Amino acid sequence: MPEAPKNTQKPTDYSLELKNKKTLQFIEDVTSNADGVQKKVLEEILSRNAHVEYLQRHGLNGHTDRETFKKVMPVITYEDIQLHIDRIANGDTSPILCSKPISEFLTSSGTSGGERKLMPTIEEELGRRSLLYSLLMPVMSQFVPGLDKGKGMYFLFIKSEAKTPSGLVARPVLTSYYKSSHFKDRPYDPYTNYTSPNETILCPDSYQSMYSQMLCGLCQHKEVLRVGAVFASGFIRAIRFLEKHWPLLCKDIRAGTVDAQITDQPVREAVMKILKPDPKLADFIEAECSKDSWQGIITRLWPNTKYVDVIVTGTMSQYIPTLDYYSNGLPLVCTMYASSECYFGVNLKPLCKPSEVSYTLIPTMAYFEFLPVHRNNGVTNSISVPKSLNEKEQQQLVDLVDVKLGQEYELVVTTYAGLYRYRVGDVLRVAGFKNKAPQFNFICRKNVVLSIDSDKTDEVELQHAVKNAVNHLLPFDATLAEYTSYADTTTIPGHYVLYWELSLNGTTPIPPSVFEDCCLTIEESLNSVYRQGRVCDKSIGPLEIKIVEPGTFDKLMDYAISLGASINQYKTPRCVKFAPIVELLNSRAVSSYFSPKCPKWLPGRKQWNMN
Ligand code: AMP
Repeated sequence: MPEAPKNTQKPTDYSLELKNKKTLQFIEDVTSNADGVQKKVLEEILSRNAHVEYLQRHGLNGHTDRETFKKVMPVITYEDIQLHIDRIANGDTSPILCSKPISEFLTSSGTSGGERKLMPTIEEELGRRSLLYSLLMPVMSQFVPGLDKGKGMYFLFIKSEAKTPSGLVARPVLTSYYKSSHFKDRPYDPYTNYTSPNETILCPDSYQSMYSQMLCGLCQHKEVLRVGAVFASGFIRAIRFLEKHWPLLCKDIRAGTVDAQITDQPVREAVMKILKPDPKLADFIEAECSKDSWQGIITRLWPNTKYVDVIVTGTMSQYIPTLDYYSNGLPLVCTMYASSECYFGVNLKPLCKPSEVSYTLIPTMAYFEFLPVHRNNGVTNSISVPKSLNEKEQQQLVDLVDVKLGQEYELVVTTYAGLYRYRVGDVLRVAGFKNKAPQFNFICRKNVVLSIDSDKTDEVELQHAVKNAVNHLLPFDATLAEYTSYADTTTIPGHYVLYWELSLNGTTPIPPSVFEDCCLTIEESLNSVYRQGRVCDKSIGPLEIKIVEPGTFDKLMDYAISLGASINQYKTPRCVKFAPIVELLNSRAVSSYFSPKCPKWLPGRKQWNMN
């Protein structure tokens, strides 16, 4: 991921070394004094926001100390402040949550009521995000030398944005960052030297953006030292794109032209500055891409690549085998942990195995608290976190330096932009400490059952979608006896699979088109991030329903019980991941149907699109 450096001069080796040293010293300092920094951060947030409506309403009365803050302020979720956020979106500019003006909304991939959550942000937060980015390469350079001697091939994209009724922009955090001067006007730095010109990243058309970034990456193949995207799914999408479009790309490289489908003028101009007719390179790429096996295609086409920089923690771990295959086992590097609410931390041992990745939270980013989490170690391995907390539970939150090794916690943040004791929804486990600052394994996002890309579908959303779909079966006197689901990432892009066991009472056979309608109804009922992934980003494939033989779910129960589940407490898992269970379901599938078209999706919220 890109980072924003501070220097403006083309640095010499010496000044780069000095800058790296300073950055690493900063990490030493803030982690050594983690508690002091956290205390100061909270004081700063609370003193400058002492007069905002939200803090006044809760009676904080200008106090800035931790004790009063923890006693007076509730631990909340998005729904608790949604009315305030709606007021801001509708044009109320009074200091509701934050004393500084809200500059825009960041649209999270976490949803509420089927729509992306809107996170208010302020201008200065861009500086905090840039700071976190600026830590990444000095850390990386400790382990991989010479990264300043070449380029990074990163596939970075912007997404569509909407305007709230009051005219504030609402867009994903990375779109906001790439469009900001922190990224666009970054001074020269060997660590932010990318193969993709800004114009190709900032192109709103995802095909043109991907095509031009790939073309530039191929042209500069020998200079590439590291490759990546934000999430693993995005990088695999880029490889898939290459699989489909290499003949066209080679044609352009051979002739030094840009395909006519690339109509965005600034993109064409930027690419033309890099592209030269190169028949030899075109021959080489053609020869590699037309081989039967694509194993190691990354190291074959970009021979100097030292690592793949993508997030493979959390649900993205499902992509590790595919990435290993394409990269011939290059190190997979997860550098940072961040969200729309706040950027959290960095991985200080970037070359560790994906299963061992831990993120050190940077204490200057926000004020962090931790809610202990208890696992139900049943078959579903579900994590129990109460939706709203009573007073006793609110007292159990611990500070950054007080978390215990091995314990799991839900992350709670208080940010400069006006979130107070806000539950992020991520579950983390303490893996160790850097000085006084804890390092966390990312365990999971609470309640998410299915995820392919940045979509996060929970059990309630799935249940609701299935309920809508089964209405199509009513005329056939058929009902759904049981169902479960699976995120199938063996296809590119991955897709949701639902396993349905039916009770058939009628005699009329159910035509395939009815099941296809069921698929589409489920997709239409899922949240906006899922539908955007299907329609706009094409990062999720058509949803599939597999009808399984009668008795399949009994077999599933028998299997779970044989593994130690209790008969009394057994509940059908609404999502399965364990390979033998998926195999059992697949072996009993009698037919399969796909969604025949994309569901509907529009940028922004439903109510903003009415006029
Ligand atoms: P968003 O609010 O859409 O930016 O998504 C932020 C969420 O993405 C976080 O709360 C996490 O659930 C997930 N996420 C971000 N970084 C990582 C990471 N390094 N590993 C695993 N999950 C991550």
